Amino acid sequence: MKVFKETLKREARRLLFPPRCPSCDELLAPDEQSFCKRCEPLIKKVRGNFCMVCGRLLKSADALVCPDCGKFPHIFSEGRPLYEYEGPVREAVYRFKYGGRKSYADAFAYDAMKLWGEWIKASADLIVPVPMNADKLKKRGYDQADVLAKAVSYQSGIEYSHALYRMKNTVPMKTLTRSERQNNLKNAFQVRNFDVKLRRILLVDDIYTTGSTLDACALALLDQGAAEVCGIYISIGG
Ligand SMILES: [Zn+2]
Ligand SMILES: [Zn+2]
Repeated sequence: MKVFKETLKREARRLLFPPRCPSCDELLAPDEQSFCKRCEPLIKKVRGNFCMVCGRLLKSADALVCPDCGKFPHIFSEGRPLYEYEGPVREAVYRFKYGGRKSYADAFAYDAMKLWGEWIKASADLIVPVPMNADKLKKRGYDQADVLAKAVSYQSGIEYSHALYRMKNTVPMKTLTRSERQNNLKNAFQVRNFDVKLRRILLVDDIYTTGSTLDACALALLDQGAAEVCGIYISIGG
């Protein structure tokens, strides 16, 4: 019944907001699921030789992890991006976050399943969005990571829960150094109203920067007994 209701809701939304290509923003043809045929060849999907931890593309053929993950071990186990962070993807993410283009979530979730579907199903039995803080949510009207997490849950059939809550944060993360960020992120998230014990969790976020946000979320989840925490994101920002 729950699945049926969710399908109806999604179909109604598709009528109101027909799916658009996240790159050129044109309406998608019925046989196009993520990017349109013109944009698809321009989008660089992450595949080949990538960091086993964060999923960043590697320059050296021998390395298993990127220099960043080699230097700073993470609390989450593994994370996977969908695309390289270049022109069309940057603009797509911008419109997804700030331009009201919630509908791109279905396109990104489609590619998430196409690229990492097997890995997602093997790694997770619960999908949890990295939550936005309440003030930002009020201003923007929606939480893009939450919309994306719901779309990945719908397309994978894996349970979704908004299990994490973001504590009030007054300092903008962008202005902080790595160590300041880490300090700021300790206790930044709390698990609420959901039993995550022994669950294998896939965190969903828009952009991975240093991984410190995923680590802080993983810390809160593992502290409440989660078995493992992985992550998926649209791209890795510079
Ligand atoms: Zn396009
Ligand atoms: Zn890495």
